Amino acid sequence: MSSARENALRTIISSGIEPRPAEVFNADKNFGCDVFGLDVMRKRLPKAVFRKLEQIIRNGEQLDPSIADTVANAMKDWAIELGATHYTHWFQPMTGLTAEKHDAFIEFAGPGKVISEFSGKKLISGEPDASSFPSGGIRSTFEARGYTAWDPSVPAFVFRGERGGTLHIPCFFYSYSGEALDRKIPLGRSIHALSTQALRILRLFGNTSASRVYPVVGAEQEYFLVDRRLAMLRPDLMLTGRTLTGASSPKGQELEDHYFGAIPARVQDFMQDVEQRLEALGIPAKTRHNEVAPGQFELAPIFEESNIATDHNMLIMNVLKHVAASHGFVCFLHEKPFAGVNGSGKHNNWSLCDSDGNNLLNPGSTPQDNAQFLVFLAAILKAVHNHADMLRLGTIGAGNDHRLEANEAPPAIVSVFLGEQLEDVLNTIIGSEQALHGKRTPIEIGVSTLPPLPIDQSDRNRTSPFAFTGNKFEFRAVGSSQSIAPVNTVLNAAVANALEEIATELEAGVSAGSSLNDTLSELLPALFKKHMAVVFNGNGYSSEWPEEAARRGLPNYANTVEALEHSMDPSISDVFLRQHILTERELLSRHDIMLENYVKTVQLEARVLEDMARGSILPVTFQEEARTADLALKVKELCSESDSVEYGHFRLIREHNLALKAALDSLNSEISATAAIDDATIQARSVLNRLLPAMQAVRSECDALERIVERKQWPFPTYAEMMWTY
Ligand code: ADP
Ligand code: MG
Repeated sequence: MSSARENALRTIISSGIEPRPAEVFNADKNFGCDVFGLDVMRKRLPKAVFRKLEQIIRNGEQLDPSIADTVANAMKDWAIELGATHYTHWFQPMTGLTAEKHDAFIEFAGPGKVISEFSGKKLISGEPDASSFPSGGIRSTFEARGYTAWDPSVPAFVFRGERGGTLHIPCFFYSYSGEALDRKIPLGRSIHALSTQALRILRLFGNTSASRVYPVVGAEQEYFLVDRRLAMLRPDLMLTGRTLTGASSPKGQELEDHYFGAIPARVQDFMQDVEQRLEALGIPAKTRHNEVAPGQFELAPIFEESNIATDHNMLIMNVLKHVAASHGFVCFLHEKPFAGVNGSGKHNNWSLCDSDGNNLLNPGSTPQDNAQFLVFLAAILKAVHNHADMLRLGTIGAGNDHRLEANEAPPAIVSVFLGEQLEDVLNTIIGSEQALHGKRTPIEIGVSTLPPLPIDQSDRNRTSPFAFTGNKFEFRAVGSSQSIAPVNTVLNAAVANALEEIATELEAGVSAGSSLNDTLSELLPALFKKHMAVVFNGNGYSSEWPEEAARRGLPNYANTVEALEHSMDPSISDVFLRQHILTERELLSRHDIMLENYVKTVQLEARVLEDMARGSILPVTFQEEARTADLALKVKELCSESDSVEYGHFRLIREHNLALKAALDSLNSEISATAAIDDATIQARSVLNRLLPAMQAVRSECDALERIVERKQWPFPTYAEMMWTY
């Protein structure tokens, strides 16, 4: 093993980067060239069919069977011209990943003869034998099928491979009885709920032109790159996505010399390859840079409609992994691949647009715009305050637990950062003592009277999970490996719920004969007063904040298990049911799936750790013990020193070996004990309170031994080698 490691290192060091033929990628010309977008449709479809399809896409409807064959045929011809040989329904089951099953276009056209065919029926829906996807009990074995249906709001695309491409049709995934088995269906429902309620507000402000309101999202994706030849020598990285042992590197992120540093040539080559593929797929890759931890990088696309941004983020993750392999890297999307340096997150930048293209979170320049902005702001504060527990649920997962509890990511407490100036405006509106500049007289709110709002354009508080950054909110608690569908679903649902209540009150006021001005002047200060408790502009990492948050009554679910224990609370389920996002059964199934996923993830890690420590580390450290014992004996013979430094070194290794052996034995019994528990909730608690600490005990001994045994004996690549070699 160790010689393999040496060989790997030697290869990396000796291999230069082969200059690839300079490919001039013209983003203007090639953007979206692998996408069956509106332009292609317009060109290839009869006018009437195109018009109908465009309308279906715009209104988020299902494909009309009467035009399906024509659309399917045009799509097939286009895809084949791009080199596609197969098609697949591409969907997002509850594994948290994407799923695909490829079928060739060929059909028999007589004995020994085939032709390419693709019917409307095959475009509209599919019936993958989906019995192995997690369903949380929604599908019993006798009705194991899941069904996929094209989501026309996200365009189809060809994913190219070396030997031909595959036409991907983005799909929903549901059960025989029509229940959601994926993450896209609830997201779609939440977008619809949000639009319905937001339009009521716009209408109150006299807007008659907007036909819908939709959330837009820009998701910043962080990731780690590790040389493939080193990563492959680490079973923990390859099987679980994170290192389960590993002494920290002598050099970590303390010099802050990696963040925004010059991008290493080999990494830049990888990034450009990724970006060019993304752009061909119609994904607007915009920003690239080195992140805080060594070996960590970020990619951010330009924001898009949230359902498209969600699919695109899944594609970005796939492309990162795919392209990494061809550049000799492995791309790790896990939230915490390495202990002791920052983990990876995914900042979910979110705002609301109307169909006329206005950003509703833009304060704007007229009093009318500002009053409307304040209504949306009040709704968002109300949503986050009343449903912080629900938002927390959008970020849970075994991997993200390692991140949210460390002082590198926002805390598990969901609060809102508004910036000093906007907070001051709100304090003034409610006539709070806290208002700065001695402006104690409340600002008069009204469609015709509100002065322009001063807004901080920057986000100077990186410790806040939910920060207002001028014209959008940035939700920073999402984990790097997670789909952004759940977090956006809960966010949209919570805001829709708050907007519904506000719209109902405003409409009641107006229909009772009050002016909108008067109704707003009464309602808004009351809303802000009630929900200012969720606003926190201070340091989210400080030790006082959890205490202060508890005084304010904000929930603090430190980990996945705690959050899941509350996931069926009426405060949460009521919103999902009321806004028609998830049914009771769908909710329960999701709870069960997430619990099971948490347990299985940590159980897998525990087994891998035991395997590595018992199979690779102990044999080496036992050898070291014997070698240092011999050495100490020799020294004693020669110098008659019984307590030599050599003897001390041997003792130290022996003590850690004994401790490691004992820790491994208790890990082993915790693995068995946890596996034997039937009740999933109790099992998850046991994973949290017993299995994870047992793993930590093994890890500490391994890491201590790694620091003292002869380096060349160590069976796995070290942190320094993995993080600083590219
Ligand atoms: P940073 O947060 O690192 O300062 P940016 O300000 O560039 O980075 O924004 C990060 C992400 O936010 C990008 O994906 C960007 O497209 C997206 N974004 C910008 N404006 C909006 C908006 N109004 N709504 C949603 N996302 C937005
Ligand atoms: Mg950001």
